[in-house]
Amino acid sequence: MNHTIGQALVAVRLDPVDARALLRHALGVSDAYLIAHSAQVLTDAQSELCAALAARRSAGEPVAYIVGAREFFSLEFKVTPAVLIPRPETEALVQFALERIAPDSAQRVLDLGAGSGCIAISIAKHRPQARVVAVDRSTAALAVARDNAERHAVTNLELTASDWFSALAGQRFDLIVSNPPYVAAGDPHLRQGDLRFEPAAALAAGSDGLDCIRLIIASAPQYLSSGAWLAFEHGGDQAAHCRALLAHAGFSEVFSRTDLAGIERVSGGQLRDFS
Ligand code: GLN
Repeated sequence: MNHTIGQALVAVRLDPVDARALLRHALGVSDAYLIAHSAQVLTDAQSELCAALAARRSAGEPVAYIVGAREFFSLEFKVTPAVLIPRPETEALVQFALERIAPDSAQRVLDLGAGSGCIAISIAKHRPQARVVAVDRSTAALAVARDNAERHAVTNLELTASDWFSALAGQRFDLIVSNPPYVAAGDPHLRQGDLRFEPAAALAAGSDGLDCIRLIIASAPQYLSSGAWLAFEHGGDQAAHCRALLAHAGFSEVFSRTDLAGIERVSGGQLRDFS
């Protein structure tokens, strides 16, 4: 006889949070359903599917790629191995953006390296008057972001193929945000856990991890209106370095902000208004 839902949650020998996520996905049900129907016996097809999903997880594949989705800023985003899995610490960047954009203003916002689109779409959704441009050089990532924009019915978002600023000549923005790759190329974390399965191009950025951040800081002033802001995510030990780079590039009001774990995770600054 096959397992019940309650037995299957234990039998898969996974972290309980992962086990519930995989069972929800295999059965197409909610957490509440799993609890209310723990004595329900799985069908043969459900048992086989659960075993297959559990085997993938045991081999290290991230839950978000197995179920094809991850929640971010209270919205569910489609994810595939073409994009970085949205992480809770990145919500600090969205929070900063929402503080800078007045609800009724038609500000122009740029998201560099949009991946799944989770940052740009969260901003577009909460600031319907803003005009958001999201770029990525990966067409596979842009396809995922396009699906997510449709899923969340955002109409104030433009998705464009661009290697950082390459397709944006002549454009100016009131706010630029980015979660660029920032892991040092030799960092052993790249060979551990979920990171092994994520796109290397979305994670690693040169020997100190700062190659993309340096490029963004150096180029951003050409694409910012005067008085506009740049803010980006970075590694837990990069805040001081990032603030120095920003100050050196002429940004004022240079700041860093902590994520939910109390780690300085987002830095940025304002382009001085010379007018
Ligand atoms: N925060 C990710 C990590 O685990 C890195 C994401 C990124 O490089 N933007 O390490």
